[in-house]
Amino acid sequence: MSQLTVAKFGGTSVVDAYAMHRCATILEQNPDTRLAVLSASSGVTNILVALASGENQPSARATLLQQLTDIQQGILNSLDKPETLTRHIEDILIHIKELADSAAISPTKALHDEIVAQGELMSTRLFVELLRHRGTPAVWFDVRKVMRTDDRFSRATPDMATLQAEVEKELKPLFDNQLVVTQGFIGAAQDGRTTTLGRGGSDFSAALLAEALEATAVQIWTDVAGIYTTDPRLVSGARPLSEISFSEASEMATFGAKVLHPATLQPAVRKQIPVFVGSSKEPQAGGTWIRNSTESQPLFRALALRRNQVLLTLTNQSMFQVHGFLAEVFGILAKHKISVDLITTSVISVSLTLDSGAESLTDEVRAELDKHCHLQVEEGLALVALIGNRMNEVNGIGTQVFKALAEVNVRMICYGASSHNLCFLIPEDNAEQVLNDLHAELLPE
Ligand code: ADP
Ligand code: ASP
Ligand code: MG
Repeated sequence: MSQLTVAKFGGTSVVDAYAMHRCATILEQNPDTRLAVLSASSGVTNILVALASGENQPSARATLLQQLTDIQQGILNSLDKPETLTRHIEDILIHIKELADSAAISPTKALHDEIVAQGELMSTRLFVELLRHRGTPAVWFDVRKVMRTDDRFSRATPDMATLQAEVEKELKPLFDNQLVVTQGFIGAAQDGRTTTLGRGGSDFSAALLAEALEATAVQIWTDVAGIYTTDPRLVSGARPLSEISFSEASEMATFGAKVLHPATLQPAVRKQIPVFVGSSKEPQAGGTWIRNSTESQPLFRALALRRNQVLLTLTNQSMFQVHGFLAEVFGILAKHKISVDLITTSVISVSLTLDSGAESLTDEVRAELDKHCHLQVEEGLALVALIGNRMNEVNGIGTQVFKALAEVNVRMICYGASSHNLCFLIPEDNAEQVLNDLHAELLPE
């Protein structure tokens, strides 16, 4: 089978012209890479989100627009301001201003995604020009032609069958003797309106495109040299992992390791495509390969942390020996598209965590739940996930883990459903200390 790599570059990797040149070198050194998937330059999506959220002070909007312009101009200047591209970027910036003015009057979900998507549209335009400047043939491709989604703005779900068909028709024919550069994170609903896949969604885009292309590898180029034993920003002793399995990495991503968007590995698993994570700042440092199976299967591989957890406890005094209560409760949550992560039960209550935050518990949801049970909502919690192998088969895991947590109020524990994880909730204020203590105890050098 001929080799085909899809390379994704995150926000810090394309933050300015200097960083973009490093990405260009990575691409030029690997002729197997045919498709580059880019995020917006670091900081841009946050500015666009602020503009899209209906910032109604004209002066605040002007400041945000100026910050945006500075980032784009910085890159354009290093390219000697090519005329057509400069005009194009200026047009996009004017378009963003007009959209932001509309959002200030009446913010809508569709407008939000149209504004937020402009970051990826600009970074890819600039990067294609930079590649051409370097003599590398490259073509810009609007991913919305192939990444068709539902119309759930901000959290759209791609339609895989359409992606597959459109990639065949629209994308593959462009691969002859040139690199194709496209956007992560964005898509289009069936009626053509722009959608986005959720924050950090460019990793997911790259994996979906790789699946549709039947690629032989996906590279996620970011600001760290691979997946570490835990977030290296929080634990100084964290170490890069040379390998990790799809199952373990999926758990890590789901439970908060920001280095991968939680959905990224689903397409890779479906087509068994190995995923490499490395640093575009120091590609020579190597990185992590994520594959179906790994050479080593350590009992403890890594720790992940997810903040801002909401714990919902639903109590019904007459739940004892009555059937149907859980079905009622989960039915309500499902109807409102609220996804549940962790669950524990007692005789008369069930506790669960919601990743979507307290705002998903609207008055309507609360009123419906109130009809069936008493509702208690706790915030200010963090979820810690210990990731490894055969964890539900080995004696004494609990003693090892909870020894390091002797001083902490552990609010909830989930263990046993998977051989790959043990999760628990603790007060958010203790999170960093707990992560450091557990790392020292369970993942020593
Ligand atoms: P990008 O913009 O390239 O998508 P992100 O900021 O989304 O990059 O992800 C990279 C960041 O993920 C790192 O800077 C690091 O702080 C964080 N991170 C969290 N957990 C881990 C981990 N286990 N290994 C590596 N990085 C992690
Ligand atoms: N630019 C988007 C974000 O900041 C998508 C991504 O970077 O993956 O969330
Ligand atoms: Mg990311």
